[in-house]
Order: sequence, then C-alpha cells, then structure tokens
Amino acid sequence: MSRIAYVNGRYVPHGQAVVHIEDRGYQLADGVYEVWALFGGRLVDADGHFERLGRSLTELRIRPPMTRRALEIVLAETVRRNRVREGLVYLQVTRGTARRDHAFPNPAPPPSVVVTAKAVDWAAADARAAVGASVVTTPENRWGRCDIKTIGLLPNVLAKQAARERGAIEAWFVDDLGLVTEGASSNAWIVDKDGVLRTRDTNANILRGVTRRAVFELVAREGLTLSEAPFSPEDAKAAREAFITGAGSLVTPIVAIDGVPIGNGRPGPVATRLRALYVQNARAL
Ligand code: PLP
Repeated sequence: MSRIAYVNGRYVPHGQAVVHIEDRGYQLADGVYEVWALFGGRLVDADGHFERLGRSLTELRIRPPMTRRALEIVLAETVRRNRVREGLVYLQVTRGTARRDHAFPNPAPPPSVVVTAKAVDWAAADARAAVGASVVTTPENRWGRCDIKTIGLLPNVLAKQAARERGAIEAWFVDDLGLVTEGASSNAWIVDKDGVLRTRDTNANILRGVTRRAVFELVAREGLTLSEAPFSPEDAKAAREAFITGAGSLVTPIVAIDGVPIGNGRPGPVATRLRALYVQNARAL
C-alpha cells in the first residue's frame, strides 16, 4: 500500500510530498507539531492534543492554519487514504515559506501544514512492553520553553541516538538540580519506595504530556497516590518501578536506568496495569 501525505491542501504520494526550501520549518525549526496514537481508526486523547496544538501555535504567534473541525477532517482523510487503523498520526505546522530572515516575515505567509499517518502494530508494542525497556540519563541541554511542542528537536535527537547506542529506548534529561525533567520523547515516572507515583511538575521545563494527563485520571481511578515531586536518577534507581508515557510509548515499563535494574528488573505491576487500562480505554473509543 502506497502512503499518502497531506501537504498544504493536497493529498500526495509520500515519495513526492515536499515543502519549499525556504519553509521556515526546514530552515529555522520555526514550527510546532502534534502526534496522536490511533486505535481502531480513532485518535486517542484527541482533545488534549488539539488543545496543546492551539497553545503551541499561540506561544509562537503562528496563526492557526484552519479551524479544528477542518483539521479533524484533514487528519481523518489522511488516515482513510492510508488505510491505517492502528498507528500514529503526525501533524506539523510551520510559520510558512518566506525569504530567509530570522524575524517573522511581514506580511505573515500562510502557515505550512503537513499530515502523515503510519501503521503501528500495537500488539507487538504490548509484547515489547511486557519485557520492559531501558533508559539512560543525560544532562539537560534544551532551551527554556520545552512546554511548547516545537519541531526544534536536535538535543532530543542526539539524546535518543546516544540512548540507542547504549541499548536503551529512551534518554532521561537531568537538570542542573540533579533532577529528571523528562524523556527525549516521553514523560518520566517512578513508583517510589513508598509506592507513590512521581512525575515532574509542569512548572518545570517539560512538555505537558497529554498521555501523562490521561494517566493522572487512571491513577486517581485506581486509588493510587500521585505526587508531582521531582526525583533524581538515584531515586529512580532505588524505586520500585519506573515507566514512561507518550503518544508513541503509551505507558511503557522501564526495567533499567543507566544499566541498573529497577526493582526485580521486570516490568512492575503498577506500570503494567496502567498500560493495560490505557490501551483498554483507547480501544473502547
Ligand atoms: N516529552 C517530550 C519531550 C515529548 O516529545 C513527548 C511526546 O512526543 C512527550 C513528553 C509525551 O507527550 P504526549 O503524551 O503528549 O505524547
């Protein structure tokens, strides 16, 4: 099946999907993105991702390229044309194409919009999650506005590559205070030695993960205790469990940090349960 991408008003074969060389996303990383998990042909946590998209655009003063309703139609049509029912949907909006200059072009060009959809075998992902994954820690070296989901991801790219070269799936950034902020493409969690679920608070320089927020609700429903208290890599290594959340990783148990096994070195019961509930909810949409 050939893939189809949406690019600035047209549905085009993936191999021919291009933007202009002076697109500000290409030249200056002047844009934002969103990623939705897709289960049974439906977007998971749709509202949270649309709301964050609106916020990211507002923060960068990029005008919304179209209404939410219109965007929903484009996402749905891209999904339909790719015949994907299980996977990930990617949306990117940049400030548009203009003669290269750091300051905003005036008048503002139309924002550029790209949408792609790719298949993911969630059952295979479940099987990998049942084994658990590893993370490595790395010094925080990103800019001060990680709350905006921008396409400027070079520190994340380098951290992820370093993780991969060390046999890990994710890198956890550690700030100047010696505390974990988040992963290169996910939020970081532990179940501490008292059984309290901990993840970094959103006053810190992190992305306000939509999956993180959805997991808050599951945590409350399960009667578990949550604290947005920061933790260090040492706290994490002494924790009962660790896990990550994100549209791509859903809830994925972490069984080793910097090569140190967490708990008994197998996925913990809390992370395993939260993943099962999250997937169950996604399938019930
Ligand atoms: N943190 C970072 C840096 C991310 O890139 C992502 C997802 O891509 C997340 C956290 C998780 O966010 P969400 O749950 O909204 O996918």
